[in-house]
Amino acid sequence: MTPRPIMWSRQIVRRGLAASLPRRVYMTQGPRQSDSICLTFDDGPHPEVTPRLLDLLRDLRVPGTFFLIGREVEKYPDLVRRMTAEGHAVGNHSYSHPRRESLSRREAAAEVTNGAAAIGRILGKPPTLYRPPRGKVTVGDMWRLWRAGTTTVLWNVDPKDCSVRRTTAEVEGWFRDRPLESGDLVLLHDDQTKVLDILPELIAVTRDRKLNFTTVEAWAK
Ligand SMILES: [Zn+2]
Repeated sequence: MTPRPIMWSRQIVRRGLAASLPRRVYMTQGPRQSDSICLTFDDGPHPEVTPRLLDLLRDLRVPGTFFLIGREVEKYPDLVRRMTAEGHAVGNHSYSHPRRESLSRREAAAEVTNGAAAIGRILGKPPTLYRPPRGKVTVGDMWRLWRAGTTTVLWNVDPKDCSVRRTTAEVEGWFRDRPLESGDLVLLHDDQTKVLDILPELIAVTRDRKLNFTTVEAWAK
């Protein structure tokens, strides 16, 4: 029988570790005095949404951070090359986006390694950022990632755009109620079109508040 790993809920990890670990080891948000925001896009690359998102980010001159699923990376390598060519950061989001609770320690480690290798084969070097699927990570996972020179990246702003129950208008309303602040690390998804509709207003409003956009890579230095 596969031993069940001891799961740390996001809340416990955040409260217990985020305050005590340096950002290059474990990050949930950026520096509050940075006057900058990180937009992150998970679960791609997607053959239809990701190219349109890249067009939009290029036109608005906004860098993003993409957390990619290895098996999708293998299907759409040109999109991964385009991301880095256009100044975006690329991170690993596992090979097949499994539930951490269903994996042994060895299987979880293989998901990380295989996801990183898929990106590494295309870009010539493995990514140094890892975002665990659904934010589920054990202390052991984090330790192994840190030993391998990889930053574990979560988020502090989650509008739940991936929920099929939340409409585009609801996500827009969520951001109006909670304007982005300096140091916010925003979780979004580019495996569906909602992100394309909400971004232009979100970016314009954020710039009106005198905030800039940067990548997680820049914050992890
Ligand atoms: Zn995901």
